[in-house]
Amino acid sequence: MRILIVEDEIHLAEALGQIMAERKYLVDIVHDGADGLDYALTEQYDAILLDVMLPKIDGFEIARRLRAAHVSTPILMLTARDEISDKISGLDCGADDYMTKPFDPGELLARVRALTRRQGEIIGNTVTVGDLTLRLDVRCLVCGDDMVRLGFKEFEVMRLLMTNCRAVVPKEDFISKVWGLESEAEDNNVEVYISFLRKKLLFLRSGITIGTVRKVGYFLEVPIL
Ligand code: CA
Repeated sequence: MRILIVEDEIHLAEALGQIMAERKYLVDIVHDGADGLDYALTEQYDAILLDVMLPKIDGFEIARRLRAAHVSTPILMLTARDEISDKISGLDCGADDYMTKPFDPGELLARVRALTRRQGEIIGNTVTVGDLTLRLDVRCLVCGDDMVRLGFKEFEVMRLLMTNCRAVVPKEDFISKVWGLESEAEDNNVEVYISFLRKKLLFLRSGITIGTVRKVGYFLEVPIL
């Protein structure tokens, strides 16, 4: 797991880095908003710890620009202020969760784990996102006590969505990875399988839905727990 820490208070940034490193997270630390945005746009992280008050570009603006650029890495906002209006603007701008300084390291780690879990974690033979688990061994999708078996292509489409669940998966990626580059498959083949999967998600009463970005692709909409 790779974490980006954007925090201008050097001591706090180092303390955060240490907490994360002790749990075997790989950590990059930057101290201003411009570097933060740059790193977040160019590197792949599993989560970003983002201070609000930062030199050059503030945390809200960074979150906004990342989401505008379709970077869907989970963001945990950190701030010294605890006014409710900050919480609202933090979440409006695309942050996933919020913590007020000073915070307890245990709670911080728990929140980072919760955020990265929503990413689609592969453990053994399963991929889990929110309330959904995809069993890779038997090609079944499980939600609570309910389970449905997926056809081969449905399974491959769902696997791509769940292992990239913070991102929009382009239609071309489904075609090349599920049908193969040599195939004659077209966008509407993908649409057909997406509609099968949507029906199965409804049947399972999952909180997760498949969102569409017109002319681009599909993504999993995962409710914040
Ligand atoms: Ca600050």
